[in-house]
Amino acid sequence: GSRRTQQADAVVTGAGSGIGRAFALEIGKRGGRVICSDIDAERARETVELVSAAGGKAFDTVCDVSSLAEVATLAHTAEEWFGKNPDLVVNNAGIGRGGTLIGETPPAEWHQVLDVNLWGVIHGCHVFTPRLREAGHGAIVNVASAAAFGSAPRMAAYNVSKAGVLALSETLAAELSGTGVTVTVLCPTGVRTNILEGVSIGDENLQRWGDRLIRWTGRPPGSIARTTLDAVDRGQLYVVPQLEAKAIWQSKRLL
Ligand code: NAD
Repeated sequence: GSRRTQQADAVVTGAGSGIGRAFALEIGKRGGRVICSDIDAERARETVELVSAAGGKAFDTVCDVSSLAEVATLAHTAEEWFGKNPDLVVNNAGIGRGGTLIGETPPAEWHQVLDVNLWGVIHGCHVFTPRLREAGHGAIVNVASAAAFGSAPRMAAYNVSKAGVLALSETLAAELSGTGVTVTVLCPTGVRTNILEGVSIGDENLQRWGDRLIRWTGRPPGSIARTTLDAVDRGQLYVVPQLEAKAIWQSKRLL
């Protein structure tokens, strides 16, 4: 229907903080039940408490999205708790790393970033897509970034991971066309969350990148989550919440 996000049974990864937590709260507000999964048990539990305090129904579970086995377990947990497959899956979990040039970035860091940011979303799509397709309705939201089409220096692994999420989402949307399952990819710019702790590209670089690409006083996570779920209701593929990013997006003829 046109209001897929109303009373949706949803799964959110990385729901213990920032944008993921905001998605969980917004889904709860729309009358849905939400499984709040995170690699950090304590944070996931806090989100459940917040959703519950706001009158929503939520359940916390630990899931490291870089593990296919753990994402498969997450699907089973969801099936048990809902008594059915979810209507909405938000592949949100991600980490930020940066600060080094390509030639200086240790391979271990490349693997870490790609394992969570790209493989995490691949796992989510691999595990949940057949279930939604079988149900014949539902929505998948993948969280990429403006970094998918930007080129901030000293953040190569992150940029590559997000470009991968974008390509994956476009492919999935094409494959699911006509099945009743929609795909939406979110490309936020600067949102003040805990992720910034991992990104040590230096204030000066951040500023320079910011001048070109983003506005760090970007919208708060709650507003991003609302905008995105409204876009899901409209069956929209891309969500680029800030105008600066949208201009770049348009210049690449993606809108
Ligand atoms: P955040 O750090 O506040 O929250 C991320 C959550 O993901 C944390 O609770 C963390 O514990 C969890 N997490 C980390 N690794 C995980 C793993 N392996 N498995 C499961 N959970 C894991 O960050 P955020 O800003 O809310 O980021 C959410 C998503 O938004 C990320 O994919 C990020 O790349 C993307 N994004 C953020 C911004 C921004 O400016 N904040 C911009 C563009 C895109």
